[in-house]
Amino acid sequence: MEARVLRADDKTLEIELRGFPLSIANALRRHLINEVPTMAVEEVMVIENTSSVYNEVLTHRISLIPFRTDLENFVLPEECNCGNRLGCERCVVRFSLRARAVSEVITVYSREMVRETGTEVVEPVSGDFPIVKLAPGQTIELELYVRLGTGRKHAKWIPGIATLYDGPDGSRVLYFESFGFLPPARAVIEAAKIFEKRAGELEKVMLEAVGDVGKET
Ligand SMILES: [Zn+2]
Repeated sequence: MEARVLRADDKTLEIELRGFPLSIANALRRHLINEVPTMAVEEVMVIENTSSVYNEVLTHRISLIPFRTDLENFVLPEECNCGNRLGCERCVVRFSLRARAVSEVITVYSREMVRETGTEVVEPVSGDFPIVKLAPGQTIELELYVRLGTGRKHAKWIPGIATLYDGPDGSRVLYFESFGFLPPARAVIEAAKIFEKRAGELEKVMLEAVGDVGKET
């Protein structure tokens, strides 16, 4: 199997795959979408919300904001050994969001989230996501818990768009467009790593399950 980069920039990556059976190329694509961990708000504590938007709508909007992801310093909550439901410094980054409109209508943007813990890598991929409008006298005060998760668990953690199309001379092209959680090359490498780990587990599981079948007793 061979792979060659056809095009790369800070958001997209196109890789020509030669000698890859379709099943393998597609498994890599599906690992890219479903298994690469990224960061998003998983839990919101609403301390105050006097805006015209329901708590549920506000928290849903916030949960869909992609965060630049630090895979060096954080682990998935289910893989963390802290055993703490609220998490620890290895599995959660805490942000706060406070805003109040005084004399005129204001729009609250993602740039107003303030990181209280964690590393400086972790931040919304853009500061320009509008979250809510506040009329004079209205206030929001929220605490946000950002955690790693995967697309398999919820679509908000899907790292980007990944498609396969036919390339020249019987090759296939993997196209990946990142939503900003991770640089595209990093996401593809993480997908390959997870795929390889799973394949290793598969052999072990099969050996344990059927390794003795057909042997003389
Ligand atoms: Zn933890």
